[in-house]
Amino acid sequence: MIVMKFGGTSVGTTDSIGSVAQIVACALEKQAARAPAASDGEPGEDSPGVMVVVSAMSGVTNTLIDAAQTAAAGDETPYRDARSQLLVRHQVVAGQLIEDGVERAALGRLFDNRLREFERLCRSITVLGELTQRGLDVVSGVGERLSAPLLAAVLRARGVKAQFVDAGELIITDDQYGSANPLMGPTLARCRDRLLPMLQSGVVPVVTGFVGATENGVPTTLGRGGSDYSAAVLGAALDAAEIQIWTDVDGVMTADPRIVANARSMAELSYEEVAELAYYGAKVLHPKTATPAVDRKIPLRVLNTFNPGHPGTRIVERTRELRHGVKAITAVRDLRLITISGRGMIGVPGIAARTFDAVARQHANVLMISQGSSEQSICFVVPESEGEAVIAALKEAFARELAQQMIEEIASQPDIVIVAVIGAGMKGTPGIAARVFSALGERGINVIAIAQGSSEANISLVVLQASADDAIRAIHDTFELGTE
Ligand code: ASP
Ligand code: MG
Repeated sequence: MIVMKFGGTSVGTTDSIGSVAQIVACALEKQAARAPAASDGEPGEDSPGVMVVVSAMSGVTNTLIDAAQTAAAGDETPYRDARSQLLVRHQVVAGQLIEDGVERAALGRLFDNRLREFERLCRSITVLGELTQRGLDVVSGVGERLSAPLLAAVLRARGVKAQFVDAGELIITDDQYGSANPLMGPTLARCRDRLLPMLQSGVVPVVTGFVGATENGVPTTLGRGGSDYSAAVLGAALDAAEIQIWTDVDGVMTADPRIVANARSMAELSYEEVAELAYYGAKVLHPKTATPAVDRKIPLRVLNTFNPGHPGTRIVERTRELRHGVKAITAVRDLRLITISGRGMIGVPGIAARTFDAVARQHANVLMISQGSSEQSICFVVPESEGEAVIAALKEAFARELAQQMIEEIASQPDIVIVAVIGAGMKGTPGIAARVFSALGERGINVIAIAQGSSEANISLVVLQASADDAIRAIHDTFELGTE
């Protein structure tokens, strides 16, 4: 059995949904042609069948979230507009791809009910004047609850036996609304009960990405971009032979092609590498996607709905080639570098602990830390949006040390970018860091700070926004990532 996840752009228009249906039908034929070696009905490598996981149509989740937020602020126009606009957008596709009048009417009623419910929710948000994370999860999951039944019906119109399934019935999570964590035990049991009989009778389940529910049935979401993660969770639960992530690019690229002209798609990557790339801003996969796949060693594949003949990128535990050590470069932007410095810090225990305690209390995300061995300074990087609050918290936490000049300065540098150089083959390969830095040095690019994770699959450099693109191009060139 394989899992095929289609992202927002893949289901964004009538044409793309038509391509998706074609891709699924082909895959199903291929799967069916494989003789099932294990006929004991257990899921696994040899069981045939296809499961589809789908995102909301592109832009829909943003529209829903915006509608809920403006509703909380008392503005009712956006959610009313959203309701009618979303109804039309889904109905147009249904009208163009589904001929059967009965099927189309049923789908129309489903859209209408869902959107009526959405409007009702927004109205109560306006009345309360408050939007909770729990409420937001109900609203933001509406897009998948429209796109998945639509795609299921389009598949049926093409002669594929497909059935819509709400992931609220399958993915059981904790109650961390907004980025809920799947509980694998109950999720596994639900998936087996609900999906195996469908797969065994040749039905393609079409499951909503992004959403889940608590054990008590309260709707949750897995975080923005979480449909990839949904696919991996479902694939792991049923021990899929492969988890395919269908998107709008030819797989995972060596760098952002808008910055590096000769960036290219990579044939293979390891779970570790893709996790590093996702963490450092490459918009390839939700950062948690590899996690469920790793334990069961299920290969992931990133493919292009708009160029289905391209083999894309295969993501496995261990790749065959470890070229150059460096495989890809990515960047996280809009960051601020904060530096705490002072001679009084030398040898004083607990400064680092207190620093990060103060930062944690602001719920700020620290992307990188570095401390020189002289101990005269600690520097770390946080998102720009959290910078002011973090500095205020630090000034308060170290008020006494600042007054006594044990700490001389809490400085901050905006317009910071972290450039992350990634490749598992850097492990134990000497000289990579030197090549990175000489490439930058030759072009006069100043590196403000560096860090290497202990995984050694990543070297991160802090540079100014103004030189970030040049830095990426320089490293890409030096390691000749543009050629196979
Ligand atoms: N529709 C959700 C989002 O936009 C989930 C996804 O696309 O993966 O965040
Ligand atoms: Mg998406």
